Amino acid sequence: MKAVRFHQHGGADVLRLDDAPEPELGPGEVLVRVRACALNYLDIWERRGLPHVTIPMPHISGSDVAGQVIESAAHDVTPGRRVMLQPGVSCGRCAACLSGKDNQCPQYEVLGYRNHQGGYAELVKVPAQNLVPIPDEIDFVHASAFPLTFLTAWHMLMTRAQLKRGEDVLILAAGSGVGQAAVQIAVLHGARVFATVGSEKKLERARGLGAHEVINHHTQDIADEIKRLTNRRGVDVVIEHVGAATWARSLRSLARGGRLVTCGATTGSNASLDLAALFSRQLTVHGSYVGTKGELLRAARFFFTGELNPVVDCTFPLADASAAQRRLESSGHFGKIVLEM
Ligand SMILES: [Zn+2]
Repeated sequence: MKAVRFHQHGGADVLRLDDAPEPELGPGEVLVRVRACALNYLDIWERRGLPHVTIPMPHISGSDVAGQVIESAAHDVTPGRRVMLQPGVSCGRCAACLSGKDNQCPQYEVLGYRNHQGGYAELVKVPAQNLVPIPDEIDFVHASAFPLTFLTAWHMLMTRAQLKRGEDVLILAAGSGVGQAAVQIAVLHGARVFATVGSEKKLERARGLGAHEVINHHTQDIADEIKRLTNRRGVDVVIEHVGAATWARSLRSLARGGRLVTCGATTGSNASLDLAALFSRQLTVHGSYVGTKGELLRAARFFFTGELNPVVDCTFPLADASAAQRRLESSGHFGKIVLEM
């Protein structure tokens, strides 16, 4: 099969269109013909190389896949089904898995990361429980743009922060995959949403998703703006994934009793925490990593009814994966960048 792989870490030019061996199915696994694969920042991190993380080479990235089942070693799955894929692979047998917290499984892996070859390829294999059938009216490009970011944002807002109707939420980088998903999920659940963007032309796009107020994080001080917009109170929830560059202002934006949830640190993972502010203002900081299979099925119901709509920035053919990754790294995009096959 054709696949885009990297044989060593480095810049986007290490990505190569190769002839790669087809995946061999084990018991309970299915083979999916990839029709679309959305990019995530995880693809960039693993290509550049991460300290203390070994990526087996050559490696196929790609965590967000939609396509068609063409072969099945699972008794209850027949070929032909149109699907999107759960990005999380877990053992299915441990206490975490059996408690519905499969993203806390000791063997939890994200498709396309480390030992699981991903969707930058014509074919990918997954356990049958990772299939999510999609209705005919949902196209493959939008289906691929849904799972990882909407699941991550859903877990952050609904499970970790326990968002309630009427609360104020600050969402960083509304043009990012997680950002555009979080704005929509928070609006859907009756929150007042404050979003940040990095350029003037993204302000209107963020408002179009339902954000009530939009802050330019390059020209305005996020915390000062939040204090001004909330009559000095601050917000109940902050959705963080930017990291060192915004961490202090994100914490300063919280109201008393506020919750900050973080799922990423694109600008660096070393930040400080003022313990006096933490206890005296009764703040909570949550770490969050992807989400559970059950949560994706719940979130997908709103996707299939049209209430949640993944924003697609643009598509590239598989052979242009390096150009697609460069666009993601340049931060010029709004929404998901998708490889279409
Ligand atoms: Zn498990």
